[in-house]
Amino acid sequence: MIVKGWCPGAWRPMMAEDGLILRIRPPEGRLSAMQAQGLAALARKEGQARISLTSRANLQMRGVKPERHEPLLRGLAELGLLDDDEATETARNIIVTPFWQADDGTLKLAHALAEALPEFPALPGKFGFAIDCGARPVLGDVSADIRLERNAAGRLLVRADGSETGDEVTETTAIPRMKALAEWFLAQGGRRMRQLFPDAHKQPGFAPAPGPCEAGILVGFTFGEIPLETLARLGEMRLTPWRMVLLPGVETLPEMPGTILNQNDPMLRVFACTGAPNCAQGFAPVRDLAAGLAAHLPAEASLHVSGCGKGCAHQTPANFTLVAGTEGFTLNGTRAGLDPAWLLSHPGEVFGTE
Ligand code: SF4
Repeated sequence: MIVKGWCPGAWRPMMAEDGLILRIRPPEGRLSAMQAQGLAALARKEGQARISLTSRANLQMRGVKPERHEPLLRGLAELGLLDDDEATETARNIIVTPFWQADDGTLKLAHALAEALPEFPALPGKFGFAIDCGARPVLGDVSADIRLERNAAGRLLVRADGSETGDEVTETTAIPRMKALAEWFLAQGGRRMRQLFPDAHKQPGFAPAPGPCEAGILVGFTFGEIPLETLARLGEMRLTPWRMVLLPGVETLPEMPGTILNQNDPMLRVFACTGAPNCAQGFAPVRDLAAGLAAHLPAEASLHVSGCGKGCAHQTPANFTLVAGTEGFTLNGTRAGLDPAWLLSHPGEVFGTE
């Protein structure tokens, strides 16, 4: 079934100007080398399909012709990247820390949660879970309603998003406790867990840097998009919510199109949606403008260029924003009517550096 909506899945894609948009939720947030190659091959068959990383550590494929949806679903199923049905896909809203280790129980718990979800009550569409029980929590500021973490003593903890404290659990009691918390949430009648905690506790964010790390190499991507030739070559990977993938155990990576390995690369701090013409709501193309301004972006500042006021590409405020409208771009909500050629030739004025 094809619908217009805000949370597309693989079973339930969303229609855009350039074709269908599908979200793919790889089990446990990882792709084997074979799955990555297979996915790249499937996307290539679609002619103009593109694959990007989402802020919930999933993959998005866009540019799929409606008549190709069924064969694509079959291909995803063959790769082990498709849930049995739409209800299972929608409920399996789980983000897993990419930094899990083979012996820390994370994968086992993520798998157990996915298996148990059909027994959970029906939850709102965006309701999600974070399995964040690696050596240190890294998903604290990533959208999730029920979190499985570790306390300072290393013991497992189930915590409602927004709550400062959680309940200590064991590997055996963790999933039943998460289910009980989901039932409690439903009884309160909320839409997201955080709304139930008026003094919501804000977890510190995690600022990953691309390049070598203890677990392997973190690879960033321009605008979060993974070129298909690169996807086919990266090997086994774990998805992250930071427009990066982790290549576990890898020490060096040859140059590949679209990758960012330098933590000082300004493109890491530049966000731009699809914009016009691929998005019907877009008033202007945005990515060339964003890329053209990147080199002039002051150190540590962020830039968000958006095709309309919806701001899909970046949910938190950026230091500089350019939003397209009927009369050109508006800079930082104040200076309106700016055209891309002027913006590109006056970066000093855009960023207040001259
Ligand atoms: S911000 Fe607007 S133009 Fe950009 S993708 Fe979202 S809806 Fe489309």
